[in-house]
Amino acid sequence: MPDIAIVGAGVSGLHLALRLQQAGVSTTVYAERSPEEVAAGRPLSLPVRFGNTVRRERELDVAHWDQPENHTLGVHLVAAGEPDIRFLGRLDEPASGIDLRLYLPTLTADYLNRGGRMEVLTPDAEGIDRVSRRHDLVVAASGRTARTGLFPRDPERSPYTEPQRILTAGLFNGIAPVEPGHIHFQVSGAGEIFSTRILTADGPVHGMVVEGLPGGPLEQLASHDHAADPAGFEKTLLALVAEYAPDLRARITDSEFGIRRPGDVIQGGLTPTVRRGWATLPSGRVALALGDAWVLNDPLTGQGANLGSRCAFELAGLIERGGPFDASFAERASERLWRIAEPVVSWSNLNIGPPPEHLGGIFVTATGDQRVADAFVSNFNHPADMWEAVKSPEATEAWLRDVTAAG
Ligand SMILES: Cc1cc2nc3c(=O)[nH]c(=O)nc-3n(C[C@H](O)[C@H](O)[C@H](O)COP(=O)(O)OP(=O)(O)OC[C@H]3O[C@@H](n4cnc5c(N)ncnc54)[C@H](O)[C@@H]3O)c2cc1C
Repeated sequence: MPDIAIVGAGVSGLHLALRLQQAGVSTTVYAERSPEEVAAGRPLSLPVRFGNTVRRERELDVAHWDQPENHTLGVHLVAAGEPDIRFLGRLDEPASGIDLRLYLPTLTADYLNRGGRMEVLTPDAEGIDRVSRRHDLVVAASGRTARTGLFPRDPERSPYTEPQRILTAGLFNGIAPVEPGHIHFQVSGAGEIFSTRILTADGPVHGMVVEGLPGGPLEQLASHDHAADPAGFEKTLLALVAEYAPDLRARITDSEFGIRRPGDVIQGGLTPTVRRGWATLPSGRVALALGDAWVLNDPLTGQGANLGSRCAFELAGLIERGGPFDASFAERASERLWRIAEPVVSWSNLNIGPPPEHLGGIFVTATGDQRVADAFVSNFNHPADMWEAVKSPEATEAWLRDVTAAG
């Protein structure tokens, strides 16, 4: 049986480790922080996991939060203007938002309780080479902050060299829940604001992500020092939400509104990047990149964790079939994973570019036709189908015909 090193204990690394564990493949996870440090730390992101990911969690026997109260059932998309866009599309399967500081330590405990091995270690490129000498294959699932230098940016697959949105995201008290539970997605000329219920270790709160267009009025929040001036930060955020997401503002109670805990804010921009998928190490072994360490998308389409999980399952299947885990295996695996990732990257990049008219056409039609609203929103769970539906004006026309013909 092969023996695999997994560097990074995020969604991608843990889903791979748990999946390989089920198949009886030996793994060691090398993690930057212990589960206790992750639980006590700052948020890295606020991912909504769509139905297919929740389904994989059931397969892994780690679906700890699969109860109706934790289900996110749809997306309410609002773009005020002429014409006014406003629809609540239903997902085909429930999604869920769990604070990763609750989610990741729980999954780590599952992995360890079932006999998994974990070392708290942050190997750089040389360290990964050293680690590789003890295993048959290294999978680097070390996330967007990892700077191993092993996986250079692939310019052909990475059209952007700078962030296309400047993000401010955080967990907040004082936002009334919605019934049925859904993601509120507000589009404006200044960028997008989305919010949804996130379950933390202390109970449910609201996660809000402000995606400001560079140079626009929402960008300022990302440089507001929330730690030094929480009251000023919250006041500025409230004023911007009032102007750019009034429906969300209406659900906020001023006297209760605030950052859930000091530090529960993420700020900055991500440059969407696809990296080379694998590298040969001085040891002669190969290292494969997985998750954000390989493909980093802007979070606007909510796909990073979902894609990391999907690719983890695919890669586990390839590993289970056995080695040799050489350059030819890495090349094949990487191309196979790219077939899964490419539509996600294309869709995400389309969304953060200048708004295409045909996408606006879907929103307008969805406002008056529940079938289109449901089909569009369900495709968040099926990103390859989403890309098929939005990749060109002709594709959108055909997709709309199909959806409305289906009755
Ligand atoms: C504001 C925001 C909102 C988002 N919303 C969504 C959403 O709704 N849906 C969705 O699917 N995605 C969303 N994403 C993206 C999603 O969170 C990420 O794509 C996903 O969590 C990446 O998982 P990962 O396991 O690949 O990487 P990470 O979660 O970054 O995990 C990598 C781990 O490796 C560790 N590490 C780093 N270097 C080393 C090293 N050298 N050695 C050992 N360990 C190392 C890190 O500490 C980290 O714990 C969002 C992101 C942001 C920022």
